[in-house]
Amino acid sequence: MEAMNTQRIPIADLHCDTLLELRAGADIDRFPEGHIDIGRLKKGGVGLQLFAAFVSAGVPENRSFAEANELLDCLDAACAKYPESLAKARTARDVQTAMASGKTAAVPAIENGRAIECDLSKLEALASRGVRCMTLTHSRHLPWASSSGEEGEGPGGLTPFGKDVVRAMEDFRVIVDVSHVSEKTFWDVASVAKKPFIASHSCAAALCPVPRNLTDEQIRAIARSGGVIGVNFFPGFLDSRYLRKAGSSMETIFREMERIERDFDGDPARRSAEMRRLNAELRSKIGTPDATLDTVCDHVEHIARIGGEDVVAFGSDFDGVTDLPRGISGCESLPAILARLAERGWDESRLRKAASENFLRVFRATE
Ligand SMILES: [Zn+2]
Repeated sequence: MEAMNTQRIPIADLHCDTLLELRAGADIDRFPEGHIDIGRLKKGGVGLQLFAAFVSAGVPENRSFAEANELLDCLDAACAKYPESLAKARTARDVQTAMASGKTAAVPAIENGRAIECDLSKLEALASRGVRCMTLTHSRHLPWASSSGEEGEGPGGLTPFGKDVVRAMEDFRVIVDVSHVSEKTFWDVASVAKKPFIASHSCAAALCPVPRNLTDEQIRAIARSGGVIGVNFFPGFLDSRYLRKAGSSMETIFREMERIERDFDGDPARRSAEMRRLNAELRSKIGTPDATLDTVCDHVEHIARIGGEDVVAFGSDFDGVTDLPRGISGCESLPAILARLAERGWDESRLRKAASENFLRVFRATE
């Protein structure tokens, strides 16, 4: 049997934080210090990349919307500067057009519903500039949604306003993203959502039991909605040994990141440098992660086994994580994951689904 050429299968990556690097001055054409740039998107066969505008809890509430917009401006500028490589996409048709001409479809997203400043008209404004996906929370409770990153249930899941946010997102064609939310918020979303919802960058709790990951019940609920789960490549979500070695919880790491956001708010280059320092510090404490490309495949296979082959996708979290598994250096490594799944017996049709077709189905169903 001839070996399958996984290099030709287009890939959709559901989450990255590269916009923070662009705002700090990186040029997306070539950015070897980070995980994503144009050369490597081509090498990795990335046909669709969701670019999240991440609004940290360290940003003052009344600047959150402006912050999200600044980051989205960076994506627009990158697409304008490199039109032959990056095409902003709103619909599945846009994505297919981009892919057919060898470009990466760039889809704007929001990480942290804090960006809307409790105001549905701001959500509408973000949607009207092309935002197609938003995580309800990050690692802190919002007044209207509780997060998995804090003790207790905060506002107790989705408040009545939080449910209005979910309904409005569906009306404005913004995919509801449950990565980072608490268990109670998750089940509130599952009962309110009428369209498929996703976890853009989350792993399986059965393999790595941290609050940020999804239980088998949650995996089944996302599958029932018709949604997808993008497997996150952060070693701390893939393998429970990682955070144990760090002598730290994810919460502590998030708090330190938040401090950096707060202290260097308004100075993106300094913020980036401080984040790099924090990453280096963690890496020196932990050493080489135990997680490998195979650990990523284990999570992909677990999610497919529990939720079905239509629910798996990839949500790398590139440029937002302190470390990556062995064998993964950035978006150029994505075909190696497909190749490993092929070695594990995945046929081309299943690989294509996980690589991009599953997410494109959700994109189409929510546009
Ligand atoms: Zn995240």
